[in-house]
Amino acid sequence: MERKICLIGSFATDWIKYSDYEYKNDSEGNLYIKPKEDAVFSMYNPFNVAEDIIIDFLKVGDASRRYYKNKSQKDYEYVKKLVLLFVKKYGLLGLISASTYNQNILGDKEVLIIEKNYIDRKEKTMDSEAYIKLFTPFAESDDLRMRYYKNSIDLVKAEDSPKFYGKRPLVMDLIFSKFYTERLEWIMKFARMLSEHFSQLLVYRASADHLTEQVTILANTFKANKIGFTINQLDKTIISWDFDSLKTAIETIYAFAVTDENILLSRCEHCEDFYIALSNREKYCSPVCRNRSNVQKSRRRRSETEEQQEG
Ligand SMILES: [Zn+2]
Repeated sequence: MERKICLIGSFATDWIKYSDYEYKNDSEGNLYIKPKEDAVFSMYNPFNVAEDIIIDFLKVGDASRRYYKNKSQKDYEYVKKLVLLFVKKYGLLGLISASTYNQNILGDKEVLIIEKNYIDRKEKTMDSEAYIKLFTPFAESDDLRMRYYKNSIDLVKAEDSPKFYGKRPLVMDLIFSKFYTERLEWIMKFARMLSEHFSQLLVYRASADHLTEQVTILANTFKANKIGFTINQLDKTIISWDFDSLKTAIETIYAFAVTDENILLSRCEHCEDFYIALSNREKYCSPVCRNRSNVQKSRRRRSETEEQQEG
């Protein structure tokens, strides 16, 4: 059996990543992560790398939790490094789209912000210009311009990056621009949530034999407000799912990964890394970890019997 998450239907969402990113503070000292000026973009489908993306993101989540617990500088530097690696591999999360009920944002006067957001917003609505500025703090007025036509609007970008010409919401043109950025802290908070969710799940999974009723793990965590789909025909008929952000794609992959009947997303009992197990009996990510753990166990047993003999 393959160590792959079974994604039924056809999950597709083109996402963009740039070849290089960097950290930069805005004028108020908020730390953002942004594509480097000379970076080039490429497109990929997150669902083709479902296993890697979920494991890499849970690692970011673990590191974030450690930092929020200890607040140590060393842990902070480590998360920064992990997030940079993650973003280089998969791009930014698309939180500008994932955090509102609005489809488009661009061209709307106000945005309606979802309750459980990771962008530190308590208010329910926000002026959309101010909202967009939150994600484009380093763009000059010439970099991104809205152009209004009689029946439509367009986003004019002073760069060469993908445009969807109405095939996807206009906000995607913005997300896929080099001027789009996200704060490190937003990414950390979302990753922390996922890692917390997974840790709770493992606790319940370990005691699954004793559960008599369904337990909801962290209720109200996932709200897929804007997942759309189309039905496509090629050699067979398939559902093609559309996602508003990489964030929603990650949540969806996670949900499929932890409910899959053939594989188990797990945490190695020796090194604590995430990996995909084929059954509940598999406790380690690799033969190396299994051997090391066995050596440790037998050492422990030996020293215990020696102590007993001495005592
Ligand atoms: Zn291991």
